Amino acid sequence: MAIKRIVIVGGGTAGWMAAAALSHVKKGHDVDITLIESEQIGTVGVGEATIPPFVDFNRLLEIDEREMLAETQGTFKLGIQFSNWGKQGDSYIHPFGNYGYEIDGNSFHHIWHSHRQQGDKRPIQVFNLETMAAHFGKFARTEDYQRDDLPPMNYAYHIDATRYAQYLRGYSEKRGVVRREGRVADVALDSANGFVSSVTMDDGQVLEGDFFVDCSGFRGLLIEQTLETGYEDWSHYLPCNRAVALPCNRDDGSPPPPFTKATAHSAGWQWQVPLQHRNGNGHVYCSEFMEADEAHDILVGNMAGKPTADPNFLRFVTGRRKKFWNKNVVALGLAAGFMEPLESTSIHLINTGINKLVSLLSLDSVTQTQEDAFNRLTGKEYDKIRDFLILHYKATSRDDSDFWNYCRTMDVPDSLKEKMDLFRLNGQIFREDDELFTETSWAAVMMGQGIEMQGHNVMSDALHDAKTKQELDEIEKSIRFLVQNMPGHGDYLSRYCPAKAM
Ligand SMILES: Cc1cc2nc3c(=O)[nH]c(=O)nc-3n(C[C@H](O)[C@H](O)[C@H](O)COP(=O)(O)OP(=O)(O)OC[C@H]3O[C@@H](n4cnc5c(N)ncnc54)[C@H](O)[C@@H]3O)c2cc1C
Repeated sequence: MAIKRIVIVGGGTAGWMAAAALSHVKKGHDVDITLIESEQIGTVGVGEATIPPFVDFNRLLEIDEREMLAETQGTFKLGIQFSNWGKQGDSYIHPFGNYGYEIDGNSFHHIWHSHRQQGDKRPIQVFNLETMAAHFGKFARTEDYQRDDLPPMNYAYHIDATRYAQYLRGYSEKRGVVRREGRVADVALDSANGFVSSVTMDDGQVLEGDFFVDCSGFRGLLIEQTLETGYEDWSHYLPCNRAVALPCNRDDGSPPPPFTKATAHSAGWQWQVPLQHRNGNGHVYCSEFMEADEAHDILVGNMAGKPTADPNFLRFVTGRRKKFWNKNVVALGLAAGFMEPLESTSIHLINTGINKLVSLLSLDSVTQTQEDAFNRLTGKEYDKIRDFLILHYKATSRDDSDFWNYCRTMDVPDSLKEKMDLFRLNGQIFREDDELFTETSWAAVMMGQGIEMQGHNVMSDALHDAKTKQELDEIEKSIRFLVQNMPGHGDYLSRYCPAKAM
């Protein structure tokens, strides 16, 4: 069956990202793309912190960075600052980019550890540009200094989610996507093969399609409510199941920091996402250990300014669909699954879902092989991210609440246990199956949460020579030089992409 009509159900971040990407790549092909969304139902309206591949997503769509950031009140993000996770009073940055660089095939954190044992007491953070720039509230893009002898700047964005969806709507409509306003009231299946054949709107209008992208949010209108795909529940590993979100002013007029903050509380954690005009805030918590009122009060008590909207209370179950592609339906975004936004991975999973869909989709037919490949690859991505998130809860010495006692002592997947054991033993980190998080990511979080390397790869002991010591000095010096000469993040934004008036 040829694919000539693609129907996207849902107009949140997932729906409009899918519409934008599909309309961009369909050039020259005879395919109609329709997106259905309901203003009455609305979107989840959160989801404002991203990671570096999102920059590539926008570039691939040939989106003008300055224009997009100005439209979405966007800021730059160099990493995430985690406070009170390993123990109360702790703070570390999980940066984008790497600690130093590989020397003679040795990962930098091994060399650093080996030198440390020989008396070099410099913290590993001084060898990472993004950490140092974040620490001093500075920002520049690699293009600004155009020197290949200096480390590149790796960054992502903070964006206003609603404005980003609106921006992509404009982009998609210009490229022929037709938007239908209204609620899908019914979904019809083809009795011959069980494929979705059409959706019926609440005004009775029937929209037929050959391929459907389910971006309907947590409800999973097609993938779950219609095709009954099933859900794998991961609450036992990641027990938080509620969030309250609340934007606020930055009362003190301070510039937005170039990083997301994730501050642990007694039964969860609080995010702060700085935009140009406001901060996005939220408290993710576990309802078994905390009531909604208390979660709200903790959030309000730890915000940088006065709320600018009513609190948005959300419920979720951490986990994922048993299949992301089922028959002629692919689920993206919250319809596909959900893991808490601790490492800003949800929009990323939309992005990689779209990449796989675009690569696998053939306009001639839908085959089982495509479906299987999509599901296998996506399942692996979810598993790897899940392990990385669990690490933040498991690697803690906090014993000040029932929640942390549960997390500290819970069983974790064998795959994560192995990673933690190997790192503790000699700092070894294996990055498997194209997994998202790099050696620096794993090392930053493990060390930040209090897992100490007892040893390192013995090969790096061969690098105790004066030449390597000089190389370490050069890395530190060039980072210091760069950061000293960068503008403040606030100044950079007001020059490069000042937000459009609200
Ligand atoms: C508390 C919280 C914090 C988050 N923070 C981050 C973050 O910092 N970074 C990150 O990457 N991700 C984050 N996420 C995830 C992120 O919000 C989502 O991945 C993203 O917003 C995509 O949502 P969506 O488009 O799948 O769903 P939604 O925004 O819920 O959109 C669903 C769409 O479907 C439509 N719809 C539903 N039913 C029907 C129907 N019957 N008929 C017609 N239309 C219908 C709705 O109108 C809407 O347009 C967070 C999520 C939560 C819950």
